[in-house]
Amino acid sequence: MFPDQEHVWWIVGAGQRVRHAITVRPGARPAGDPVTALCATTIKLPHETWPATKEPSSRRITERCPECEQHVDEQLERDRDLVVTTWDA
Ligand SMILES: [Zn+2]
Repeated sequence: MFPDQEHVWWIVGAGQRVRHAITVRPGARPAGDPVTALCATTIKLPHETWPATKEPSSRRITERCPECEQHVDEQLERDRDLVVTTWDA
């Protein structure tokens, strides 16, 4: 168990075309909840794609917010155990 392990998620907010990095586990909050990304932009957690067999619509979005990317890079330099996950709903 690593309860103190830092974790960031690359996520496409509802209605967005780029990925932002957040430190809140996406599944821990209901869809539509506002979350502040590392670049201070507020995004809304996306609804999960349904049915689950369908490819999540965000999967094709690979463009990352440059400001969030810089924050993640800096955090990785400080903390090599930082877990970075790309999250699709
Ligand atoms: Zn961002």
